[in-house]
Amino acid sequence: MKNILLIGLGRFGRHIAMRLNDLHHQVMAVDIDEERVNSALAYVTSAQIGDSTNEEFISSLGIANFDVCIVAIGESFQNSLETTSLLKELGAKKVIARASRGIQEKFLMRNGADEVVYPEKQLASWTATRCSSEHILDYIELDKDYSIFELSIPADWNHKTILQLDIRRKYGINVLGVRDHGRLNMNVIPDMELTGDQSILVLGMQKAVQKCFHI
Ligand code: ATP
Repeated sequence: MKNILLIGLGRFGRHIAMRLNDLHHQVMAVDIDEERVNSALAYVTSAQIGDSTNEEFISSLGIANFDVCIVAIGESFQNSLETTSLLKELGAKKVIARASRGIQEKFLMRNGADEVVYPEKQLASWTATRCSSEHILDYIELDKDYSIFELSIPADWNHKTILQLDIRRKYGINVLGVRDHGRLNMNVIPDMELTGDQSILVLGMQKAVQKCFHI
């Protein structure tokens, strides 16, 4: 369980709060807008109404005690930048800041962010990749070369085993798991037989996965 400070309760911040609540993390939420704080109360451990660019207010939260601080302010880049840099100055262990334009990523990193999330860009990339083939059910880009894909089983793989397919040797692709009727089995063994109604979770170079799965 992590102790997380979440600043900014717009749609993005609220979705983060809900997910962190599902994952049983301890979250303190902050927003300048009382209504937004009230509407997030059900998903967070504690909440404060305040301006995150106000040093006195933000230092009263004990920033160094949080494992992660998330700055989910989108529209006002000035507020986002000031908050990010203040958090770092006050000893934040890790600051994740939100960018809503390409140029902002660079400034946030230079001003104390340890990581930057750029939801529009990241989701656009995910959506474009997903819809580029009906075989791609999900994907996570690990770096510019490697990704994890969840793919439907190609028709000509039906009733073949992982050993017979030999995709690690042929394409350098590792099978991480097989999803069968919604249940993910990560205990993959070579003589596991695949069927057309399953999906497969693989890790490999994007180019190799495209070639192997004819994407
Ligand atoms: P979203 O895009 O997530 O729906 P939004 O467009 O409604 O958000 P933004 O301007 O991106 O609103 O700000 C996100 C949240 O951050 C808002 O709820 C806003 O009140 C809050 N916020 C903005 N500046 C500050 C600040 N200085 N201190 C605390 N909260 C702030």
